[in-house]
Amino acid sequence: MIEQAQHVLKHVFGYDNFRPLQQEVITNIVSGKDTLVIMPTGGGKSLCYQIPALLFSGITIVVSPLISLMKDQVEQLTQLGVSAVFLNSSLSVQEYQHNIDMILRKEVKLIYLAPETLLQSKILSLLSTIEIACVTIDEAHCISEWGHEFRPEYRQLLQLRSIFSHAVYVALTATATPQVQKDICNNLNLDDQNTFIASFNRTNLFLQVLPKKNPLQQTSQFLQNFKQQSGIIYCLTRRQVDELTAHLHYQGYSVLPYHAGLSDEERAKNQDRFIRDDVSIIVATVAFGMGINKPNIRFILHYDLPKNIEGYYQQIGRAGRDGLPAQCLLLFGYSDIQKLRYFIERMTEHEQTHAITHLQAIIGYAETENCRREILINYFGEDYSTDNCKLCDNCLSEKTPKTDVTVAAQKFLSCVKRTGEIFGASYIVDVLRGSNSAKVISNNHHQLSTYNIGLEYSKDTWMLLARQFIQQGVLVQDLRLGGLKLNANSWLVMRGQKVVRARFTSSANRSNKLLDE
Ligand code: ADP
Ligand code: ZN
Repeated sequence: MIEQAQHVLKHVFGYDNFRPLQQEVITNIVSGKDTLVIMPTGGGKSLCYQIPALLFSGITIVVSPLISLMKDQVEQLTQLGVSAVFLNSSLSVQEYQHNIDMILRKEVKLIYLAPETLLQSKILSLLSTIEIACVTIDEAHCISEWGHEFRPEYRQLLQLRSIFSHAVYVALTATATPQVQKDICNNLNLDDQNTFIASFNRTNLFLQVLPKKNPLQQTSQFLQNFKQQSGIIYCLTRRQVDELTAHLHYQGYSVLPYHAGLSDEERAKNQDRFIRDDVSIIVATVAFGMGINKPNIRFILHYDLPKNIEGYYQQIGRAGRDGLPAQCLLLFGYSDIQKLRYFIERMTEHEQTHAITHLQAIIGYAETENCRREILINYFGEDYSTDNCKLCDNCLSEKTPKTDVTVAAQKFLSCVKRTGEIFGASYIVDVLRGSNSAKVISNNHHQLSTYNIGLEYSKDTWMLLARQFIQQGVLVQDLRLGGLKLNANSWLVMRGQKVVRARFTSSANRSNKLLDE
């Protein structure tokens, strides 16, 4: 069987060797076993079900959430001489009927559909008249509420089991935490013995986080390292994309914007010029990058904090597809947390819980003093631990020793307590440093015993300490309501029963030097 798969790999797809896990996955599917495949973006998931589709005598159904993805896949397959069609609302009546006729004449090997199309009763009864060998569910994380792109329609796919009861079921995704993996297996009734997880360790990507201070200047400085090279800058909002594009354009960079506010033509044109190396830099919202396969992207800059690790990993995964080194920089400002909270506040209670869990995870990544690679890889459930990955800012920087800052912590925590556990770090520092701001005065906080007792440190240093207090669990940031709160550890510190140690230079400051060298 594997010889046949190898033959198809070479003569249909034109490749000599399988990528890691492809062969194992294909063997498993072809032998009739349901399979869950977790492979990072660019890892080669499509071949995992496309080769079996060509080996099975029956037809393979592929469930895909996005029309653009289906279109790309069908176009690529058609070019290779593989007969594939899609069914969705973008087709004209004639095209739709043409595709249906091809399916009924058994002239296709693969049918791509959105879940809501597939679940229509007329489609189901049509498909139940032909031999369906395999049902493939792409972007399978959409089935889980714990994922970052939950799609309720995916939940109904289980009913396919009773309709196509002889088919092999295959689920694929690029981003699934262990919890999401379990959810996929439960929802599709898959046996978790047949889960294949490819390594998420992209060893050519350098990972770095810098505190966002002067992002325009930090961006220019970062771009100095990539003259005439390709890269993507991700921003949170369309407005930010437009502003940054204008700024960089003015500075003489070869740059174009990409976001959902542009016309379809303009988006397609900008993407095309980027792919052709006609323009070096794309400034974009997360709308950019789905399905693009440009090998020589040398950097990914996150100008704003991403909403979750899943998205972040997917976005940085677009760099260095050619295997050559690429750099990923995230600018992390605490005000970005507030911006994301603004979105979260507008969600339902239920959605909020998931969004906050995701936000906490990405903040944990941004703030860690440990290996960033380890955090990312472990997040997706893969075992990986290292003393020094040599490819992230934290591993490369020498750790400055920690100092006892218990007294500073006590001042800070009691100020949090006295101001009612509703304010953010910046306000607490203002009180500690005796600010005369209208807000402090109108709250009567200049009357507090903790007012003006923190002049020994600058505001920046206090902010740095505050982050370390949170990171070390002696202070809590309430992501739902925004303010800082105390916990049991805070009380131990205030009573002198717990020592707090911290660094006065952030790891990010140290790694800034690395980049300058
Ligand atoms: P994913 O869906 O996992 O993001 P794709 O299936 O789109 O990844 O594959 C990414 C790229 O790698 C595609 O250009 C594909 O043609 C290529 N590719 C896949 N498998 C192989 C292989 N065995 N050898 C060489 N290139 C491959
Ligand atoms: Zn590391």
